[in-house]
Amino acid sequence: MKDLYSGLIRIHVLYHACEEGIFGLGIIRELRKHGYRIGPGTIYPLLHGMEKRGLLRSSFAWIDGRRRKVYYGTRTGKSALEEAKRKVRELTNEIFADE
Ligand SMILES: [Zn+2]
Repeated sequence: MKDLYSGLIRIHVLYHACEEGIFGLGIIRELRKHGYRIGPGTIYPLLHGMEKRGLLRSSFAWIDGRRRKVYYGTRTGKSALEEAKRKVRELTNEIFADE
């Protein structure tokens, strides 16, 4: 079941990284609000993987007195997000067509 949502989670992460930048614990909390229970053991490898693929870049920043690694969407990440948004819209239109 987890596999079914992994793409949605990635798109969600990419969206927030492109909007305002994210750090591990912050995005864990954000995803929890949306009903996804994801721990550090999943989110950190996911962020590293997305950075390695050029979708995200990171830099250190102080947030609430703690040094955090903050991830932002790259230009590649932003165009991947635009493409993903088109796909999400298309899927949404289809699966809600008869409702
Ligand atoms: Zn969100």
